[in-house]
Amino acid sequence: MSDLAVELELVAPNGLKYVQPVGLFINNEFVESSLKGKLSTINPATETEITSVYAAGPEDVDSAVQAARKALREPSWRNMHATERGDLLLKLASLVEEHAHVLATIETWDNGKPYQHALQGDVAGTAKCLRYYGGWADKIHGEVIESGPSKLAYTVRELVGVCGQIILWNFPLSMAAWKLGPALACGNTVVLKPAEQTPLSVLYLARLVKEAGFPPGVVNILNGQGTVTGACIAAHPGIDKIAFTGSTATGRQIMKLASANMKNISLETGGKSPLLVFDDADLDSAATWAHSGVMYNQGQICTATSRILVQEAVYDEFVTAFKDRVRSTSKIGDPFEDATYQGPQITKAQFDRILSYIESGKHEGATLSMGGDAYKDVNGRGFFIAPTVFTDVTDGMKIYQEEVFGPFVVISSFRTEEEAVRRANDTTYGLGSSVFTRDMKRAHRVARDIEAGMVWINSSNDSDYRIPFGGVKQSGIGRELGEAGLAAYSNIKSIHVNLI
Ligand code: ADP
Repeated sequence: MSDLAVELELVAPNGLKYVQPVGLFINNEFVESSLKGKLSTINPATETEITSVYAAGPEDVDSAVQAARKALREPSWRNMHATERGDLLLKLASLVEEHAHVLATIETWDNGKPYQHALQGDVAGTAKCLRYYGGWADKIHGEVIESGPSKLAYTVRELVGVCGQIILWNFPLSMAAWKLGPALACGNTVVLKPAEQTPLSVLYLARLVKEAGFPPGVVNILNGQGTVTGACIAAHPGIDKIAFTGSTATGRQIMKLASANMKNISLETGGKSPLLVFDDADLDSAATWAHSGVMYNQGQICTATSRILVQEAVYDEFVTAFKDRVRSTSKIGDPFEDATYQGPQITKAQFDRILSYIESGKHEGATLSMGGDAYKDVNGRGFFIAPTVFTDVTDGMKIYQEEVFGPFVVISSFRTEEEAVRRANDTTYGLGSSVFTRDMKRAHRVARDIEAGMVWINSSNDSDYRIPFGGVKQSGIGRELGEAGLAAYSNIKSIHVNLI
């Protein structure tokens, strides 16, 4: 790559030739970084380099923040009618659909997820989310509050300002849409940092942002290392809000950094979400959902229902049905092949981490019931792991308590509803949870008792851009998606008018 190239022509493994931006996106232009520093990105299915992109240093973060602050004051954005702002998001949604094949190709190449999942899940979901928030842009308003005949009191919803957004690598485009959609609908400006493992698709999206007609500086995209670029964004005094998706440990770091100027914060962090199967449940359906709830996206899902608790009487039957489901569905292979359900893990580091949890499970005395090793049958390369099932797992084990973030599940049994709820809640996390039962009274009772931001009754990991998403306890602060997602990107101002 020449030092000056900020866009490169690339040919993806599926033969698609396209122009990949590799610069920093500031003020609607792709530019080099001040450090000339670059970040290499790897195809996890082959372990070979795809390309490298510019990484932002502190000066670049400053430039992006200045661009975003300037855009906040510019009449072209500040005075833009909310309906027009919404139109830009609708236009962006349509462009995402027009470029779906390229975006899904990049996502599969850079992340390793199956192409069909990228196309029908990530890219389609990105367009829907942007369109949904485009619809909200001119429906965000305050209220008049009755406070007696001599007073008029009303509220207005104002933008927060410059929003720093730091995202993870598991769903790069979707995570960007979940954050850009509500931020832009509310009239904010943005400095967004994709994860260093997946820098490419969001840079391509940046080009579509410009094409949609967003004024310069409204959206800025900076790639870079978390501890450099991410930390600069989190600490920057010119940024008013920080939104983060990633690990709980990094979330804590970000809270500390953001405290310097008391930024508004929203965090979506880790989980070890329970899935409860009661003895009256439809076991086939429970096994089907339980499988996708932990094995989809190579198990790299914050809300993965990775801790399965099954009532004693149906434990053996459920374990058999679950393993059958893994055998029939989790086809591991080249992510560009349509039949593939499971691609490689994102990096060697994640691959090694999962293998170390497998060793820990064996060492702690759980029964390794399925999988438990690397999968070498896809051209002999790539970070593939066989879907892994541990049974006879007990509450004190590390594999029961800690988030693994891979195709890895622990299954344990319980006797009573009281025990199931107590054990489901025995975790520092509180993101998702599932309950399988035909008894609807019990389903709603358990849904209320579970300490989690989301409960799925007779399903797992149903996600919808119209429905709030987020966690309690150490799984996060605030909500994304739905109308609730707008709260994270707007402040309420109260105006008191004295009428006498
Ligand atoms: P992982 O450990 O899987 O890489 P992280 O939670 O560390 O997950 O990363 C999520 C996002 O947070 C990435 O964009 C990463 O670059 C960023 N990040 C990591 N460390 C920091 C940090 N100290 N400050 C700000 N951002 C960070």
